Amino acid sequence: MRWTKEEKETFVTAIEKWGTALQWLMVWEETAELGVKVAQMLRGREVAPEDLAEEIADVLIMMGQAMHMIDPREVEIAYYAKLRRLQERLLK
Ligand SMILES: [Mg+2]
Repeated sequence: MRWTKEEKETFVTAIEKWGTALQWLMVWEETAELGVKVAQMLRGREVAPEDLAEEIADVLIMMGQAMHMIDPREVEIAYYAKLRRLQERLLK
């Protein structure tokens, strides 16, 4: 994950300011909001690309915080292992 130093500091500051319990709740809330938008889109409802972009941005910000509430290196190891697995599957 290539977060900048400023992004990492922002994630850590948010976690320190509001605490891990509240930020995990925000992870839940923001991922659910994106899930709702995707469900609405798949049900044929008009969903503006900007609305989806906003929800994806919310989730990315919360994923940055989620990584920093555990060990970011652990997430990176898992991420690259899963990315490699996906790449291998695509080659088959
Ligand atoms: Mg949202």
